[in-house]
Amino acid sequence: MPRGVVPRRPAKSGRHEGARVARPVRTPRKASTSSPAVRSGSSVPTRSKYNPLAPERVSEILKRLDQLYPNVTCALTHRSAWELLVATILSAQSTDATVNRVTPELFRKYPTVQDFAALTPEQLEPDVHATGFFRNKSKSVVGAAKKIVADFGGDVPEDMNQLLTLPGVARKTANVVLGSWFGKANGVVVDTHVTRISRRLELTKNTDAPKIEQDLMKVIPREKWILFAHQIIWHGRKLCIARRPKCVECPLENLCHAGDKTWSTVETHKNAK
Ligand code: SF4
Repeated sequence: MPRGVVPRRPAKSGRHEGARVARPVRTPRKASTSSPAVRSGSSVPTRSKYNPLAPERVSEILKRLDQLYPNVTCALTHRSAWELLVATILSAQSTDATVNRVTPELFRKYPTVQDFAALTPEQLEPDVHATGFFRNKSKSVVGAAKKIVADFGGDVPEDMNQLLTLPGVARKTANVVLGSWFGKANGVVVDTHVTRISRRLELTKNTDAPKIEQDLMKVIPREKWILFAHQIIWHGRKLCIARRPKCVECPLENLCHAGDKTWSTVETHKNAK
């Protein structure tokens, strides 16, 4: 040691100038064998991300709907494909109850599709007036009857593309007739209830019916397409109503993150509505 240089004594406080405080070394925590990372073989544990379309979530929704609405069917009164087609056209912007009040007298007065085909729209208007939008609806019903008589031998076609050629018939009406009368699952009926509840349940982010239908067809098994729409329509009438859904009574509650829930045990997602 050079002369004149006195070694510094350790400070009484135990802290030395310039000394670094040693930090405890953390050993990585062992991942649980049940964690997703271990199951997938990844060495980095990851937090599982919420996926509203996860098959197990969708099948739990379907299971609960089955328990809640086991045997639901179309609420429109009808005795034939033609009557169902007319009732569905009349139900636009109206209620099933109103349509069911109008149709018994309508079909008593005009029992066959040929009877409707012989009318002018103006002649039919008073008979369907109570369902609203009666001018357009009269035009659609008479136009559909004329085309069915002229092109399909008086029988409502069982084919989606042929149904879509009828005046006033879009995919919703065609799906109702194909599903509820012919038992054919060509698509999913998307009405106002199905639109609202599919968005609340995050089965779709879309707002227009054709896109919503495509989204539902991807996540709902085909054999459930007909029943699912009936169940959701009933759910929309009984519990998941538009203005103030009865979430406290709803068996889907802990699966639902709707932004407009009225009561919730889970976090809500503001866009889910
Ligand atoms: S919890 Fe509420 S918003 Fe969600 S499906 Fe049920 S009634 Fe509808």
